[in-house]
Amino acid sequence: MKVSKFGGSSLADGHQLQCVFDIIKADDTRKVIVVSAPGKRFKDDTKVTDLLLTYAKATIEDTDATDIIETIKDRYHAIGNHFDLPAYELADIDEQIDHLARKHYRSFDYLFAAFAAHGEYLNAQLIAKVFTHLGVPARFVDPKEIGLRVDDNARSATFDTKSYNTIAELDLSTSERLIVPGFFGYTENGDIATFSRGGSDITGAIMARGLSADLYENFTDVSAIYAVNPSIIENPAAIKQMTYDEMRELSYAGFAVFHDEAIIPAIQGGIRINIKNTNDPEAPGTFIVPPTEVQQTRPVTGIANSNRFSALYLHRYLLNKEVGFTLRILEILKKHNISYEHMPSGIDDLTIIFDKTLLTQEQVDGMLEDIAATIKPDTLKWLPSYGIIMVVGEGMRNRIGALTDIVTPLKEHGISLQMVNQGASEISIMLGIQPDLAERAVKAIYDNIFKMV
Ligand code: ASP
Repeated sequence: MKVSKFGGSSLADGHQLQCVFDIIKADDTRKVIVVSAPGKRFKDDTKVTDLLLTYAKATIEDTDATDIIETIKDRYHAIGNHFDLPAYELADIDEQIDHLARKHYRSFDYLFAAFAAHGEYLNAQLIAKVFTHLGVPARFVDPKEIGLRVDDNARSATFDTKSYNTIAELDLSTSERLIVPGFFGYTENGDIATFSRGGSDITGAIMARGLSADLYENFTDVSAIYAVNPSIIENPAAIKQMTYDEMRELSYAGFAVFHDEAIIPAIQGGIRINIKNTNDPEAPGTFIVPPTEVQQTRPVTGIANSNRFSALYLHRYLLNKEVGFTLRILEILKKHNISYEHMPSGIDDLTIIFDKTLLTQEQVDGMLEDIAATIKPDTLKWLPSYGIIMVVGEGMRNRIGALTDIVTPLKEHGISLQMVNQGASEISIMLGIQPDLAERAVKAIYDNIFKMV
């Protein structure tokens, strides 16, 4: 049995859904289908999830939401009409969209979460209706029905692993395909809470593990995961297979094809993942598998970069001798409810790297003020934008010269680095870099390493 997940671009309109239908129909073992909300149909289009967030904001601010509601309904209608779905089936979806604004929510965060989750919630219902209408019986499965429980973090929830037991009870013996909305679960109080953005991948992985699937297929809009972002290098090498850990590090550092948290249920359950293209389903795609299954052909599997970071640089003499110093800094972070990503240090220096998408200006100001007042550093600098490049490959374990292959091309191109972190992970080297130099650096490193093979 396979769990097949389809992303937003694969479900953006009726034409795309027809491709999805053909893929499902062609293989009876594609039993559980996890779906995203309808995504972008063209470059400047808006995802239904973002339309719903605008609707949520209008509801909170009590401003006129008529236009946005119509736009959301139109997206679902366009899909339904493509398949001549009877009008009453769509009326039911319209009603749920209207009803969203009338419900009571525990907080604004839960309100945003519930609105956003309806992108998937309604799409899964619609897809079950369309498939049944086209002659492949399908049933909508609410995550509530299978006890998909998450914690109270309304918009960036963590999955409760106890739910695997209830998910495992899902009856797979009927002839129906089971359509599960991605991206959200229910808290203990019964509220909807979503994973972070792109989180339908997580639901797919949870379902695959809970049901001990033979394969987790993740359908998207590319025929493989590439060794580097194709907008930086034309026709980069496609990755045929990689390990779970490689994927986790690459997706963390910018490979948007697969959510970095989605790898964890797959690792725990030993579930193989296959990233495939909805518009080219015969292409083998990329397999993400346990390390024992991978034959290493390259020293480096992929190079990712992301500029979504900020950094704090702190210098004070004799830092190395001070007991409890890091603890005091961490207490300040805790006070302001800030989590950090990395903390490389020297004798008298410390850099703390943050994911800036998780920070507010108020938090940053409060933290800097407290650090200046209590730690009294000789130098304290805030770098609002900080780039990270991650060079990843199982082939780098114990490989002599891995760093030379990275640093030599940078030297040749006159590109300087702000930080190098090797050793924390055996399969990656992390580089800190000025964001405007990151793409040039990635290109130089890629050209050097990939021309060696
Ligand atoms: N629809 C959600 C988002 O846009 C989740 C997903 O597509 O995976 O982030």
